[in-house]
Amino acid sequence: MTRHRRETPHAELRCDRCGHQLERYWRHCPNCAKAHVWRDEAHYTGAECYRCGWVVSDKFSFCPWCRANIRDSGSSDEPLRAPKGFKFDAKCDWRCGGGVQYPMPWCPWCSREQHWPEGAFEGTCPHCARGVDDWMHACPWCGKDASGQDLIPRALTNVRRLLRASRLTPWNYRILLRPGVSGVDPRWPKRVEIEQRYVVGKKKRDEIPWSMLVGLIAHELGHSFLYHHWAWTRTQSFRNAFGRVDKAYRVSDDTWVDFQRRRVTTTRADYVTAYAGTHPQEDFAETFRFYVTRRGRMRELFSELGGKRKSVIVYEKFLALHHYLRSLRGW
Ligand SMILES: [Zn+2]
Ligand SMILES: [Zn+2]
Ligand SMILES: [Zn+2]
Ligand SMILES: [Zn+2]
Ligand SMILES: [Zn+2]
Repeated sequence: MTRHRRETPHAELRCDRCGHQLERYWRHCPNCAKAHVWRDEAHYTGAECYRCGWVVSDKFSFCPWCRANIRDSGSSDEPLRAPKGFKFDAKCDWRCGGGVQYPMPWCPWCSREQHWPEGAFEGTCPHCARGVDDWMHACPWCGKDASGQDLIPRALTNVRRLLRASRLTPWNYRILLRPGVSGVDPRWPKRVEIEQRYVVGKKKRDEIPWSMLVGLIAHELGHSFLYHHWAWTRTQSFRNAFGRVDKAYRVSDDTWVDFQRRRVTTTRADYVTAYAGTHPQEDFAETFRFYVTRRGRMRELFSELGGKRKSVIVYEKFLALHHYLRSLRGW
């Protein structure tokens, strides 16, 4: 498999609906989702597919864009590396002997499906698994919501409602459904990645663990919030409650089960949940999760903590967060 080097967009390749820059052979504008047809406008090959209208070569047996059979007397009997108008980027995945150009989904010689390494992109689309960047609204390959937010509307509505009830002002965070692990990279504190396996591939909506997702999103938003207000972590009041956030991390990522727990756990008196005890940043994210899912109602939270025999420090964590949020609102 050869590595694909991503081309810088040419100024002339622009969406004719919204003006956003495109890369050649993107099926959809990543900004407005408009479907694009890449014709033979520059007369590179003198041929377009009868079915999809995209540029093809007379030498091809199949359209590499829509898989239509386009074999005729001009087609090459042998698979070629790169006929006029096309580049050789890789050999066909199926070793038919022909060459393929990025990002052809089908081999123009044997019609079989091609896989492309999408390392030039920041992530992958939860709908079609091809490469997308985090800012993209639409997937350039399948045209669907590249963030995957359309797959978890119930969870997102719920989280937004909880944040509003907790009187948290939105900070332009962006939820992205992605494969791998859930988390927030401190370099991009507003991008909140949520593991897609809880949602993608589920056939029925009731197979999706909605309340766990709400908890998970609230937890990750806690990380995003803290990175967004990092100066606060340097203050004495924060340190007294949560400790030092720059402490070395030794947390395994397989602790997602914790987010299924809706109640405060009894295992550790100094932390709201056992997972909160793994690191000061997790402690904050868990405290944030409970604060938000209890709508910032301190009286209810405190009686819940009392029932679980939590020590004073846990109350102080919630108070530190509560007071900080008030100070942000100008109290
Ligand atoms: Zn557009
Ligand atoms: Zn076609
Ligand atoms: Zn092939
Ligand atoms: Zn897609
Ligand atoms: Zn965490």
